[in-house]
Amino acid sequence: MKQVHVIGAGLAGLSAALSLSAAGWAVTVHEAGPAAGGRCRSFFDQELGLRIDNGNHIMLSGNHAVQAYIAEIGAQDAFQAGKTALFPFMDVGTEERWVVRPNAGRFPWWIFSNSRRVPDTRLSDYLDMARIARIKDNRPVADSMRRGRLYWRLLEPFAIAALNTSSQEGLARLLGAVMKETLLRGGKACIPLLPKEGLSEAMIDPAIATLQARGAVVRFNSRIAELTVESGVVVALRGPDGSIPIESGDAVVLAAPARVAADLLPKLIAPDAFEAILNIHFRYDAEPVGPLKEAGFIGLTSATAEWVFVKPGHVSVTISAANAMVDDPARSIAMDVWPNVVDALGLPPEAKDAMPPFRVVKEKRATFAATARQEQRRPKAKTALAANLALAGDWTDTGLPATIEGAIRSGRTAADVILSL
Ligand SMILES: Cc1cc2nc3c(=O)[nH]c(=O)nc-3n(C[C@H](O)[C@H](O)[C@H](O)COP(=O)(O)OP(=O)(O)OC[C@H]3O[C@@H](n4cnc5c(N)ncnc54)[C@H](O)[C@@H]3O)c2cc1C
Repeated sequence: MKQVHVIGAGLAGLSAALSLSAAGWAVTVHEAGPAAGGRCRSFFDQELGLRIDNGNHIMLSGNHAVQAYIAEIGAQDAFQAGKTALFPFMDVGTEERWVVRPNAGRFPWWIFSNSRRVPDTRLSDYLDMARIARIKDNRPVADSMRRGRLYWRLLEPFAIAALNTSSQEGLARLLGAVMKETLLRGGKACIPLLPKEGLSEAMIDPAIATLQARGAVVRFNSRIAELTVESGVVVALRGPDGSIPIESGDAVVLAAPARVAADLLPKLIAPDAFEAILNIHFRYDAEPVGPLKEAGFIGLTSATAEWVFVKPGHVSVTISAANAMVDDPARSIAMDVWPNVVDALGLPPEAKDAMPPFRVVKEKRATFAATARQEQRRPKAKTALAANLALAGDWTDTGLPATIEGAIRSGRTAADVILSL
């Protein structure tokens, strides 16, 4: 039986491992940390006394690789059912609230409906926005359409979440790639996929169980510190217990983050500029009403907080493209954000003076910066650096920004490279 070693048990590594185990390969996954999931994981926070996710993740029903992955690991029941495409927003400056509700079918009649589109927007703006999917050059999101109300109240919040990069720098064509598979396919493709419990319960633990049921071995605390390449072939890995020989005919998938991959393969050109994401978790039992209750989250404009999620026992805030804030003290970040949460939840103003216990999770290198320069540095899964090696990760050349959909697809692509050897 052919053997493949997968380095990294994030979603890219897990998806490669799933494909290769299904194809009959003997799979060993080496994960540096004590648990799988990488940048998409849940953990118990002692101080809050709660299990939380490292960060809120939005996936949409149009993410077809995500859907196939969830089906393969049998985790459909781990997601909330019956949600519709519904995106509540509030402008914290003016206290205006609106709800974007794309209709299910492909013909976008929602853009004609005052109760479904962004208030006070023009039809021509929606047509302009749809044209982003055709952009092929390097223009940033900020130059992709007229900067009117539709831009500020829908496109920009969506772009910052999808690209994790400011709209002055974030590549419009990467956003266009996401829009083509979601917003432009109608509401059916825009239903948020939200885990019932945590990310690990929904996306990671069932994948590990599926792999183990197929006989794959998943080694935790197993950091790979070196790849030995001789005559264009990986011949050994160095793990914590010493050298692991790679026999002739065997293969390796390198699914570690970009920085680690570049350390292991010094000749690799990979993204080298990153953007932070902050998640601020407040221990607070919210009782949302209206669209916030229905959706489970709300987008904010004119605020420090960008998205507020209501979860069991806590409320959780996401701030993307957060390099400028990431080194601020946790308390000052939480104090900036809590008043936004009070507004979003419609709590009485005096609640602003009663900030509950909080945890700030700082993911300093949450994703590569989705700029033209970084896009150029994304390598293909198949690499000239070694014949029996494939690369995977959200930072490889998937055509998508650094997202779960991209990570899962990258793993499938890497598996196809190995299967074609
Ligand atoms: C806070 C936050 C919010 C996000 N929000 C969203 C969102 O809303 N929607 C969305 O689609 N995406 C979102 N993302 C992006 C998404 O989480 C990532 O794109 C995805 O998880 C990347 O998966 P990956 O497998 O490519 O990398 P990783 O998850 O980084 O996995 C790499 C794995 O390799 C392991 N590793 C590292 N070095 C070694 C080594 N030497 N040997 C062995 N193992 C090693 C790591 O421990 C890790 O487990 C978010 C990310 C963050 C951080």
